[in-house]
Amino acid sequence: MAKAHFGLIGLGVMGENLVLNAERNGFSSVVYNRTFSKTEQFLSGSAAGRDIQGAVDLKDFVNKLERPRRILMMIKAGSAIDAVIEQISPYLEEGDLLIDGGNSEFRDTERRVAELESKSFGYIGMGVSGGAKGALEGPSMMPGGTKASYEAIEALVSKMAAQVEDGPCVTYIGPGGSGHFVKTVHNGIEYGIEQILAEAYDLMKRVFNFDSPEIADVFAEWNKTEELSSYLVEITEVCLRTKDPEDNSYVVEKILDKAGQKGTGLWTVMSALELGASVPTIYASLNARVMSSLKSDREIAESTLSGPNTVFDFDCSQEDISNLTDAVVLASIASYAQGLDLLRVGSDQYNYELSMPHIAKIWKGGCIIRSRLLNRIQEAFTKNPGLSNLLIDTWFAEQVKIRLVGLSKIVAIAAANGVPVPCLSSTLDYINSYRTARLPQNLVQAMRDCFGSHTYQRVDKEGTFHTHWLD
Ligand code: NAP
Repeated sequence: MAKAHFGLIGLGVMGENLVLNAERNGFSSVVYNRTFSKTEQFLSGSAAGRDIQGAVDLKDFVNKLERPRRILMMIKAGSAIDAVIEQISPYLEEGDLLIDGGNSEFRDTERRVAELESKSFGYIGMGVSGGAKGALEGPSMMPGGTKASYEAIEALVSKMAAQVEDGPCVTYIGPGGSGHFVKTVHNGIEYGIEQILAEAYDLMKRVFNFDSPEIADVFAEWNKTEELSSYLVEITEVCLRTKDPEDNSYVVEKILDKAGQKGTGLWTVMSALELGASVPTIYASLNARVMSSLKSDREIAESTLSGPNTVFDFDCSQEDISNLTDAVVLASIASYAQGLDLLRVGSDQYNYELSMPHIAKIWKGGCIIRSRLLNRIQEAFTKNPGLSNLLIDTWFAEQVKIRLVGLSKIVAIAAANGVPVPCLSSTLDYINSYRTARLPQNLVQAMRDCFGSHTYQRVDKEGTFHTHWLD
């Protein structure tokens, strides 16, 4: 039998769909899964009749691949990746290339790239976004490692990726763990936008007194606009309209309000804190998931802690919807702005030389945060590659100008009704802080100097100063 062009390890939902995608694009494939029964099921199921072979073990798998071998690992992130690298390494030869397509922590990838490249193997850490459907039809892919390793997979990934008007949704991201760093931040932005849309739903439901179809109608309208047309807005409408066949009620109202997380949102926030990048909207979305997990505590607190409650006769006007639109637009922009700012700071710190226009381009199709707004983001960074914050680009600054009052009113309405809007209110504070040249940290510096002699700088003269504040 002829040797296969491409190998895949890990027949989870992503692996299965990615290998079907590769084969559809002309790359004969071989698959290996730790539990062989899954391989058998796959070969006799969705892979039947396709140019896909199975392998019983890693030696068999490696032998069935043409050289230099291109092997995509689509398995659980963490120690499983190290285990598979250790198991497969004895069978690899110089120039063979391993790709980790899972959601690995970027520092792990940094280490693995260095280790594998030092043994004359190639290693690519590649973020893949798009879920199961994207993996099959064309995901957005964020590969990092050496340029030479990327070139060895360029033809393969360019064909597998989603295609937008200016090319495939994949590009060389940069060295080391940069691909996984970018994927991590992509997921952080995703956390932010999901939470923003959930807050808008909650306000419409609890304050505006809209029912599910009315809320879905608002999302449908938003999806027609340049500022909000996106995959996440589109699927939110679908989620809101979907009924339970058992009793014809809306499924979303039966779902337990505890949101899961697998690490990338946390890593985004940890990176931001380490690097000194300000990502409050994204942090608020992560914390909202943490708070959601405290279900039993919240049930007790609901009957213990009193405060303002929703007014059931709220008379929702067109202006309220327009203000809510402003709020959702600005908070979504803030999620992108904060994520891209984190990428900029990380790129400087880790010497990744990230290209923001290229990253915006590959996020325009296939991935979960794809949106029309990314055209504007791509334009802003193409015009000014050194842009320090998306908000100060002319088009985005105009959005702030026309929408900040709407966002402020919505945060006020939410507060008056006791409805939490952590992402919307964090965005308001983020923008108001960012557009304030003098913040009250002069007083914080005074306190620090007062109790701990930490010293301070002055606005009227150069140098470092200390005041004897007490006595
Ligand atoms: P998954 O549930 O994360 O992983 C399942 C696969 O990992 C199975 O093939 C399993 O083999 C294998 N595996 C686990 N531990 C292993 C070990 N110690 N040695 C060898 N194989 C091991 O599958 P997934 O959802 O398809 O995701 C794969 C990767 O893509 C993950 O890193 C995930 O975070 C990332 N990702 C997922 C999505 C998504 O929408 N699901 C989107 C983007 C990225 P067995 O069958 O033998 O258990």
